Amino acid sequence: MSKNKQQEPHKQNEIKTIKKHEDIIEKKRELTQYLYDMGVLWSYRIDVDTILSDKELIVTSLTYLDLEEMDLIFDIFPYKTVRQTWIEEMLPSEYDTVLNKMLAYIYFGVKNFNDFRKKVCGKKEEKIINANIEMPPQTELFTEKKIPLASPYQFVRMPEGWKSCTLNMLHKLNDYVVGKGIKDFTIRDLGEKLGHGYCKTSFYDDAIHNIIEEWSADTYKTCCRCGNLATKYTRDWIRPYCDKCFPKKWF
Ligand SMILES: [Zn+2]
Repeated sequence: MSKNKQQEPHKQNEIKTIKKHEDIIEKKRELTQYLYDMGVLWSYRIDVDTILSDKELIVTSLTYLDLEEMDLIFDIFPYKTVRQTWIEEMLPSEYDTVLNKMLAYIYFGVKNFNDFRKKVCGKKEEKIINANIEMPPQTELFTEKKIPLASPYQFVRMPEGWKSCTLNMLHKLNDYVVGKGIKDFTIRDLGEKLGHGYCKTSFYDDAIHNIIEEWSADTYKTCCRCGNLATKYTRDWIRPYCDKCFPKKWF
């Protein structure tokens, strides 16, 4: 009996580690698919289970993701890994100076770009790897959880016009869950189906159900593009639009 009890925490930790590892793999797979859907992986053969290598995933994400989507990559890899890959794979390029300058300033805490580049790229590789890495204040933006409960990937997939009401809903859920002390609450799935937002969670009660239902009804009345009141619905692939955003080809 006591022997079993001693083994439990160890086993639980093991399960947690495996679970975390699986989560990361799933996030890498989803991000690969997302980049593929964006049309930027035309040179890769992508199947459902394809995952880009870490280097490819970091470089492609830093190059093509919008700024507000950049959380996706910082959610998967430690900050140091992203920064180091940027230094090794992207910084030496003569062609991407504008992009590199922007990344340097926004994400990697580099103030004097030209000096930094000269210093880092002028050194041999082993020295680059040992380059002193400091966490700049800007990165707090990307490590603190601005979107409660949902992963950045789940959130980014929501139609643009629904992001505001979805964020409100997630805050409501979070306030409720924290207030009630509900442990290990997670968003299992967040998306759009038949013109409505849907959200699956790891736990339900009446209040959680109501928050989600109310939000789902709201999404149906909200233009998926701009967030204004919806007035029209596309047919085959049902989505709500306002007069201004309604796709022309549906007339
Ligand atoms: Zn609209």
